[in-house]
Amino acid sequence: MKPLPGRKPDLRALPPEALAAVVAGLGEKPFRARQLFRWLHHRGAATLEEMTDLPAPLRAALAASHELWTLERASEQRSRDGTVKWTWRTVDGRLVESVYMPHVGDDEDEPHNRDRRTLCVSTQVGCAVGCAFCMTGTMGLARNLGAGEIADQIHRANRRLVELGLGRPPRPLTNLVFMGMGEPLHNYEELKAALGLLLHGDGAGFSHRHVTVSTSGFVPEIARLGAETRVKLAVSLNASHDAQRDRLMPLNRKWPIAELMAACRAFPVKQGRRITFEYVLLAGVNDADEDARRVAALVAGLPAKVNLIAYNDNPGLGFRAPSPERVKAFRAVLEARRVTAVIRRNRGDDIAAACGQLAVVEGVAPARRTGEP
Ligand code: SAH
Ligand code: SF4
Repeated sequence: MKPLPGRKPDLRALPPEALAAVVAGLGEKPFRARQLFRWLHHRGAATLEEMTDLPAPLRAALAASHELWTLERASEQRSRDGTVKWTWRTVDGRLVESVYMPHVGDDEDEPHNRDRRTLCVSTQVGCAVGCAFCMTGTMGLARNLGAGEIADQIHRANRRLVELGLGRPPRPLTNLVFMGMGEPLHNYEELKAALGLLLHGDGAGFSHRHVTVSTSGFVPEIARLGAETRVKLAVSLNASHDAQRDRLMPLNRKWPIAELMAACRAFPVKQGRRITFEYVLLAGVNDADEDARRVAALVAGLPAKVNLIAYNDNPGLGFRAPSPERVKAFRAVLEARRVTAVIRRNRGDDIAAACGQLAVVEGVAPARRTGEP
């Protein structure tokens, strides 16, 4: 993470060893580093002042060299389906979003767990990939989020959920999906550092089983993710052949479908798990039966699950959602070929919190979708 102009480094971005080195450098005992880590990542402290059992001189010394890039809540929207979308303001005035969804998640490990509470997390301000159907893609990339800012979305959400009386205090969130703004694998180092913080035993308490990273197809980083972490993989496929995917997702010209699928086949999928393939259905573009047949052929032999997402309307992008019948017919073609396919419900669509609708420009949320009951 490049330093932000005029700011001290973010204490929350430091892995435990680096925090230990800072604390040791200040002549403090090692247990103080653990105490500090727990304040930052277990209790989700927003400020150094909150850390009342740390000696004041230590806090002052820390503040001389570092600060906390704690996110400020700029807005909150609650959907009638229980989804909550937050817009956060970073220390340098950027806006990013996270979306809370009760009782969802890709958890084939725990199909009977009805008390999942999932946060959809952002990894970048905007996105450089520029997929034709995605609102975030229209923004371009403003900057990467740092590991501390990625992790802080979880801490701010947990604290706010407790305030709202949702979920079990002090940390209601059980699952994370890296499917918010940005391309996680385009910000690989900070993503990996954030996962290290969030999955640390002294931290926020997430299990790798409950964490999914979604990518549009950064092939080399898929291999790294598989080698260096144990989290689950989701891939935004969204097309059934290269000419179609080139048009919809420009990065396909660099990493075409065959390379993407080879990376998926090489990915170390843990026992009982599957790779999720997301497929946004665009009427008349990629929603024909023959597309479904090609998708089935692409994932054949993989432990795969296909998530079908009817296009969420982003006015001005020139796409339409298929009819519910078409979506069902597409799924039926996949199922006839023994491919597990689920139709994803549009969560939070009344507050523009659904997939591909996250975009904030100077505090203005994208237009609310209309025409839906
Ligand atoms: N950049 C990563 C993580 C973001 S996930 C990725 O693309 O995988 C965002 C998900 O929403 C992706 O699966 C994407 O295909 C989907 N999406 C984007 N725009 C959408 C839209 N308008 N309607 C429905 N889904 C959309
Ligand atoms: Fe970026 Fe993902 Fe949107 Fe594509 S779908 S523009 S990769 S956020």
